[in-house]
Amino acid sequence: MNVPQERKVVTEIPGPKSQAIIKRRNDAVSASLGMALPAVITNAAGGILLDIDGNQIIDMGAGIAVVNVGNSAPAVVKRVQEQVASFTHTCFMVAPYEGYIEVCEKLNELTPGNFKKKSALFNSGAEALENAVKIARHYTKRQAVVVFEHGYHGRTNLTMAMTAKNMPYKEGFGPFTPEIYRMPMAYPYRSEGNVDHVLDEVIHKIEKEIGAKNVAAIVIEPIQGEGGFIVPPKGFLPGLAKFAKDNGALFIADEVQTGFARTGQMFASEDEGVEPDLITTAKGIAGGLPLAAVTGRAEVMDEIHPSGLGGTYGGNPIACAAALGAIETIQSLNLIKRANEIGKIMVDALNAMKAKYPVIGEVRGRGAMIAIELVQPGSKEPNGDVLGKVVKYAQQKGVLFLTAGTYGNVLRFLPPLVISDELVKDAMSVLDEAFANVK
Ligand code: PMP
Repeated sequence: MNVPQERKVVTEIPGPKSQAIIKRRNDAVSASLGMALPAVITNAAGGILLDIDGNQIIDMGAGIAVVNVGNSAPAVVKRVQEQVASFTHTCFMVAPYEGYIEVCEKLNELTPGNFKKKSALFNSGAEALENAVKIARHYTKRQAVVVFEHGYHGRTNLTMAMTAKNMPYKEGFGPFTPEIYRMPMAYPYRSEGNVDHVLDEVIHKIEKEIGAKNVAAIVIEPIQGEGGFIVPPKGFLPGLAKFAKDNGALFIADEVQTGFARTGQMFASEDEGVEPDLITTAKGIAGGLPLAAVTGRAEVMDEIHPSGLGGTYGGNPIACAAALGAIETIQSLNLIKRANEIGKIMVDALNAMKAKYPVIGEVRGRGAMIAIELVQPGSKEPNGDVLGKVVKYAQQKGVLFLTAGTYGNVLRFLPPLVISDELVKDAMSVLDEAFANVK
């Protein structure tokens, strides 16, 4: 790897060179864009981000669950270089190329569901969700779309309506598209009493408030990402899938964040044997290049009239080459197994911290998609204040942690799956130190 795999802090963060460039950033770039880590990156590989001042920062976010195979994974680089030298774009709707078809073949094979599948490729997670909803409405000839509290599906107009959290995603950006219905989410840490009743409540609300026969699709993340890594209790997802099936609606799993080995399975839906009618993917699909997909039942995907779906760039040949390199890497390095190993290191360390620091209310997640929820000691009152301080402390020590959660109080861990044990342990020890020092 072209970046040494160890943490090293040589300046304050941001260092002087980063500061100078961030000044230009602030002058040239819209203030609407966030910046979790104020350090300008020049190289990245394995579990390390190298900044322009020479700091080697442990990457516990993988660009928000994108570089599961690591930055500049060799198989991705090789295929992208070959492709970019051959041709860069024809538009798949103008003239086809094999890479697009091969990515669809892989997706059809790897996604859960023991039935004939077909795929279509797009550019972003939000665009995949938009298209999944279009397909479901067209196929079912119905309009209502069921989504969930704490859900996140993107920032376009339709997906803003599907996303739960107002600030910062929706504030002032309305009006939002109609026929989106938000249901209660089974949130084990916060739902009152036994969460099993939530499924009954959802079904009751759909029947009474929407009408089961008006529902085109039920859309849910198998583990909610931006909402705070909320893992529904066993039975919730299969129950929703069964209800959809019994009532002629489609069950759509949004695996944009959970997909591609992240949760210790290729797709999180596999955990309970759920076979979604449609699956949306993006992020981890292409090792950092922009690509997204909708994969699902062939009879559903084929019901749309010719040219009903598409877009200029969707399934760009370079992004497809990257995806083939990323999928090859997940398989050749057995990153599914690796996700579970990394997850165990994190969960063991985090549980030990939970026993020491009462601000940690819960440790949760699956595979290498792990989070802790921070609360006021002795209660479940969200504690975003300590979260901010811990993240800042860790940055100064050379560790990047990402946050999440409806209440802004969740620390989420999504390292590249090629990170070493040593770096994960080091990041956990910096976190321990942060909790010990932050008041
Ligand atoms: N769905 C889920 C579950 C996501 O996590 C995200 C991105 N955080 C999206 C959809 C939207 O993806 P994109 O940002 O690529 O549009």
